[in-house]
Amino acid sequence: MIFSLRAAAVLAATVTIPVLLPAQQQAPAAAPRSVPVSNLRYEISFDSATARRSVIAVALSFDVADKGLVLLSLPSWTPGSYEISNFARFVSGFSPTAADKPLHWDKLDYDTWRIDPAGARSVTVRFDYHAVTLDNAAAWSQADFALVNGTNIFPYPEGRGFEFPATVTVKTQPGWLVATGMEPAGAAGTYRESNYHDLVDKPFFIGRFDVDSQQVEGHWHRLVTYPVGAMSGPARSLIWDQIEKTVPKMAAVFRETPWRTYSTLMVFTREVGGGSALEHSNSHVGIYNPGFVGNPLLASITDHEIFHAWNVKRLRPADMWPYDYSRPQPTPWLWVSEGITDYYADLALVRGGVVDSAGFLGLTDEKMQQIAEEPPTALEDASLTTWISPVDGSQYQYYPKGSLTGFMLDVLIRDASDNRRSLDDVFRELYGAAYKKGRGFTGKDWWSAVSRAAGGRSFTEFYEKYIDGREPFPWADILPRAGLRVDSDTLREPRVGIGTGQDSSGAIVVQMVQPGSVAEAAGVKIGDQLLALGNIEIMDPSFGEAFRSRFGKREGDTLSIKVRRGADTLTLHGTVKLTERVESKLSADPQAGDKAARVRRGIFRGTTDGQPGP
Ligand SMILES: [Zn+2]
Repeated sequence: MIFSLRAAAVLAATVTIPVLLPAQQQAPAAAPRSVPVSNLRYEISFDSATARRSVIAVALSFDVADKGLVLLSLPSWTPGSYEISNFARFVSGFSPTAADKPLHWDKLDYDTWRIDPAGARSVTVRFDYHAVTLDNAAAWSQADFALVNGTNIFPYPEGRGFEFPATVTVKTQPGWLVATGMEPAGAAGTYRESNYHDLVDKPFFIGRFDVDSQQVEGHWHRLVTYPVGAMSGPARSLIWDQIEKTVPKMAAVFRETPWRTYSTLMVFTREVGGGSALEHSNSHVGIYNPGFVGNPLLASITDHEIFHAWNVKRLRPADMWPYDYSRPQPTPWLWVSEGITDYYADLALVRGGVVDSAGFLGLTDEKMQQIAEEPPTALEDASLTTWISPVDGSQYQYYPKGSLTGFMLDVLIRDASDNRRSLDDVFRELYGAAYKKGRGFTGKDWWSAVSRAAGGRSFTEFYEKYIDGREPFPWADILPRAGLRVDSDTLREPRVGIGTGQDSSGAIVVQMVQPGSVAEAAGVKIGDQLLALGNIEIMDPSFGEAFRSRFGKREGDTLSIKVRRGADTLTLHGTVKLTERVESKLSADPQAGDKAARVRRGIFRGTTDGQPGP
């Protein structure tokens, strides 16, 4: 994608802003187009019989108005999950019929089916979708449960746009439940959406799971967890308490709660080592190791996904508006859509009282240290290239680095406006000016809103150095403006000397063994699956802390390293070695002046001076 800088006359004086060139017209004159179809009715069936085959049975019925060929396509990706998945791979038994007679069909391309209705006015297409992918963006089934995304199973008529209404009927067995953000329509198990974007933005849980609902500031919130009993008692009360405390703080940024009911959908399974989640306009799906139950990380991920209901599902970069399901939609703006969402997740935690200010600074500190250890990457480049999964460690850098950029912009806006404006004003303004006007935001929208909030201050140099460029962030300048400082401490830590990554099954696999390290001496090999270090399971969410506290005291202790190599499980033996690391710690500066202290307080509380707080 081409990027250019252009002087913007509309802005005060010398502000230069990034402007995206219009995307090249991809569609040639003879782009394939389906004959018009209408009255689309999707029926999906999942019960213990289809579960045994790990499939969801899909039937799509529609009316055909004219003579010609019907072209049906499946999306290649799920918005929010920035990778190509080609869901058509998981379809089998494709069979179109009219009046129960089979119709001729073939493939036009790898995700498009071409059907000849042969004059029929009403057509039904049936297929099985293999729900075998444990991923937020995909479909996965167990004996008593399925997670399924609309992008996987709802074909759309090719070349006819996405503004068509449709109904969905979910069929399951007695005693099994259905949870989705979709609008119920009449009969039980039937839903209706007015356009395809909404249709594929509301994933389903079908089967046996726990569900309960509460009102949060006058809007229903539903908590849905699989398997039954996975999150109950105090752990369930805890996440409810966190949701109740943080959601109003996020809504305060936009002064609007844009849903009738919001569904937090969670799967807990040992098949994943960590946790991940995917946002939608009135729900999100998280897939977590059971170790996340009761862990503060769960609240942080939950807040991140809920904030997305505003930032990215509604307020969205123009180059992802509207979504195009047929191809990648790279954007240089994921540092705002993802990174700054993560900043607001941290803010929601401190503003809602889930963590204290020291906890917030600890989260910020972690991001600063993470960035310091990774290859310097421009935020725009990291955003753009995530689609191709670069292996140099930069693929997800727009999360922590984008989050810190949000923090810096917040401080600079508050500093420039004597704490009368904040980054919240930027989001509120863009939400009204772009999303509410039915469009995505542009670079011009973003930087002029930032500049305006900061009283006309130019952000050209900031953009060139820290967004388009790779310069280290100017903490020595930023932190004092918010009454913060960095203290350094030298720590002695146990170092094993391996680099690891997660494979597609969630296993932690050794990718690098440092020469001369403890791991090399013990015989660890690249490709080994790491199971435990010193009897602490590597999948334990508090592994790092537990490992450091047990082995950080003295050198020479025996360290067992449990790995799986091929079919064998091996226990290797090493000796603990300690290495020195300088740790920086972000903290509130007690000497901060009045203005810096007001800025700091404003960030923690979500308030500005000189106008009523939210
Ligand atoms: Zn996100």
